[in-house]
Amino acid sequence: MNDRRYACTLCGVLYEVTAGRIVCDCGGPLRLVADFAVLPENLYGRPFGLTRYMEAIALDESALMACDLGMSMSPLLPMEESIFVKCDYRLPSGSFKDRGAAALVALAIELGETKLVVDSSGNAAAALSAHAARAGLNVTVVVPTGAPEGKLVQIRAYGSDVEIAPGTRADAGRLARKIVSEVGGLYASHGQNPFFLEGTKTWAFEVWEQLGECPATVVMPVGSGSLLLGVHAGFSYLRRIGRCSEIPRLVAVQSRGWAALTGDLSRADGPTPLTDGIAIANPFRKQEILDAVAESGGAVVVVDDEDVIGAYGRLAMSGIWVEPTAAAAWAALERLPDNWPPGPIVVNLGGAGYKKPIASS
Ligand SMILES: [Zn+2]
Repeated sequence: MNDRRYACTLCGVLYEVTAGRIVCDCGGPLRLVADFAVLPENLYGRPFGLTRYMEAIALDESALMACDLGMSMSPLLPMEESIFVKCDYRLPSGSFKDRGAAALVALAIELGETKLVVDSSGNAAAALSAHAARAGLNVTVVVPTGAPEGKLVQIRAYGSDVEIAPGTRADAGRLARKIVSEVGGLYASHGQNPFFLEGTKTWAFEVWEQLGECPATVVMPVGSGSLLLGVHAGFSYLRRIGRCSEIPRLVAVQSRGWAALTGDLSRADGPTPLTDGIAIANPFRKQEILDAVAESGGAVVVVDDEDVIGAYGRLAMSGIWVEPTAAAAWAALERLPDNWPPGPIVVNLGGAGYKKPIASS
């Protein structure tokens, strides 16, 4: 696919898609613009994974196949009346990040890059490492001092190099970009690289297929927004081609004291929180997230740790073991306003329990 460009979300400047171009010269986040074809109404018989939706994904099928780990269509389970959970914790490396990571590794393959560099100590780095290992590419993961050893075990197991950056998460980001500028490779930041959202778009396509319609509301934890923005782009595409009349209301779930979207960062100077997967103090795409939530008629919902622990236990007791960050989305259901509009609600469960096991109360 050649008809694809990056466009700055702030100043509108267009760029060629290259490995070195991740943000605009003005500092603004970039988004992908491409001429997408129309997805057939019936996708029966196609393989699962990103290639199922090739008409709507700006990547080459051969590159996606080269890093494919047998991505399934994650199950959509009915829970209570009109409430479903989307089981993204069952993707290849145990989180929704597999969707975007597959897209970034495919991009690296297309651009002829053999190395990816990322600053993350969590699920994004694990997902990237898994898909890169499948394709035979090398990954350097830069983590800040004190990153949880548990999450590094999985990253190292896939063969990625781990570099420790003295300081904070921001220092890790600076070191990652320095490595890219000095050694080369693709900066595979899930918060910044626009192609990550090409992968997370498939969440929307799968839900549309599984429900036979677009849901009224979707609920998901939000840190850097790499799922929410992909889901918004996916449903926007479905609306454009006439498969949805409305974009579902997007509910962004954050933790009290770590809620960048509401401006409450009162716990951000403290230790790593229970919901470490959404502990992002300054999301690079914050304005895009707020705009998407507002356009959809959705909301930002803030949950407390005790709500999360309760939801974690209730899900596990019903056979669904997810990490606390994922359980936050289930906890948020009880915080929706009483007059919330009716219709199917889909809650994403985006990370497996083994990612961060805690004792149930
Ligand atoms: Zn710009």
